[in-house]
Amino acid sequence: MRPSRISALLTAVVLSVSMISCSDNNSDLPRIQRERNKDEEFRIGQSYAVDEEDIPDDIEIPDDEICDISNIEKEVQLLISHIDDKEDEAVIKEDIQNLLDMYDLIYDAHTDMEIVFYRNYTDKALESEYNKFYRAAFVAQDLIDYGFVYGYDSKYSDLFKDLVDEEDLNEHEGEYDLEAARLESEASFEERSEAISSYYDVTNDKDLTFKEKQLECADILLDLLTDYDTDSLYSQYDRDYTGDEILKLGKTVKSELIPVYNKLLDKYFDIPDWSAAFFNDDSSDPFEIIRSYAPRLSADIEKSANIICDEKLYTICNNAYAFSGAFTDDLPTKNRARIFIGNVGSENILGSAIHEFGHFHACLYDETPSYLFKNNMDIAEIQSQGLELLFLQFYDDIYGDGSDANKLSKVLDLLDSVICGFLLGEFEYTVVRDKDNMTPQEVVDLFDELFNSYNPYINISDIPHLFESPGYYISYATSSLAAFDIFEDLMKDPQKALEQYEKIAKTSFNSGEFTFKMALKECGFSDVLTKEYITALADELSDYADSF
Ligand SMILES: [Zn+2]
Repeated sequence: MRPSRISALLTAVVLSVSMISCSDNNSDLPRIQRERNKDEEFRIGQSYAVDEEDIPDDIEIPDDEICDISNIEKEVQLLISHIDDKEDEAVIKEDIQNLLDMYDLIYDAHTDMEIVFYRNYTDKALESEYNKFYRAAFVAQDLIDYGFVYGYDSKYSDLFKDLVDEEDLNEHEGEYDLEAARLESEASFEERSEAISSYYDVTNDKDLTFKEKQLECADILLDLLTDYDTDSLYSQYDRDYTGDEILKLGKTVKSELIPVYNKLLDKYFDIPDWSAAFFNDDSSDPFEIIRSYAPRLSADIEKSANIICDEKLYTICNNAYAFSGAFTDDLPTKNRARIFIGNVGSENILGSAIHEFGHFHACLYDETPSYLFKNNMDIAEIQSQGLELLFLQFYDDIYGDGSDANKLSKVLDLLDSVICGFLLGEFEYTVVRDKDNMTPQEVVDLFDELFNSYNPYINISDIPHLFESPGYYISYATSSLAAFDIFEDLMKDPQKALEQYEKIAKTSFNSGEFTFKMALKECGFSDVLTKEYITALADELSDYADSF
């Protein structure tokens, strides 16, 4: 059992696109063969050698006393007693604040432990230690849910109305036993862990043939999705668009964007020595590079870059022990966040750092208590991908002769997110809709049919998101579409692109105040979930390809 694998279900871990993007992560047969040419040297980073001692490696293992869930249980019980005793509102408010603060502390500890574990991902002892923190956060959330629903059903309803949502109410309405709530939460944690671990068991099983693996994964998926319907698949992520809308737009994506992707890819391979264009200086610190360009964007971005560098809130690992992938996670009590980047390859490291720094920058402006985190990925991924695109204007300076190849590569990556996201979105939605009449073989066939004309090397077994967080993946498509709106402005009016980015970066992705379309409207973006927008984007990208 590996509960640590299911982080995405609970935490605000914001996975980097590059980690799951189809072109980058298929180690068997990548669409873009990224060979490195060590003879070529590039300007990037040459003045920023990392001092070994500077690599932040000094995160303390948090005290696991915080994982003792009886402290939270006592505090919830106290709240319930105060409600029953009809105490003053001030007393109830203080109880609420105490619980929110306690959860922030657990969250902080979880994030620290997460980084410690992810940089030693093969260490079994650390894994079980990390799982304690993860389990504590999971169960604490359920217990606080319980207490807040109890309050909502009392005469203090008003104090709790912003703290409970429909899901909490459905889950806990009519429950009158805190002890039973805890046992149920613990059981549900184990159950989820088992579902996820069966996926990892299959993908790691060397005795299974490729075909058997796909069928077994399809079987696990069908089983997992029995708990979902076409509404809950999207509503759990606070979406303001439907699966039917995605299905319709998917047609335009396939007919308009896939041909442009192929055109851009041709341009990319037309560049002489394209494979030499990758930054291959392992010794540079990408966050110092970000710091050096940040003042050219804005004072606020500069401020965030200074914070992340001065406080060393990032961990970069490049070794066999570390987790491969990148993410940003919050430290809510300090209003900070930590970034982890592991084994992304020297050619991806700057892009990965810029992406995660976009999340970091946004986190600094988001003061939502961690208990209330909505983690709206549709918005969060615009904050990261948008910044990646803003950095395109510095590529000539950063990459010198390798600039064109890197620009095309970045645009291809993002376009790949849109296309893969729509294809996976269509796959997932169709399976949820038709699951009662589908066999595992039909699930595999549907997947292959959708991906064949785009990327035949990608398989169901390659996409952990399908199993860890059903319904989540489409966010990569919607957010990249929105990020391309910044790209369009960047080509014509960089100042406007920056203003748009600054607005979206300060739009809370956690408070629940904004949904995707709403946030776009508020920040002056186009309505990106339309056929017209996608067609215009295809034209724009086609012109961009012609400019090389
Ligand atoms: Zn991200």
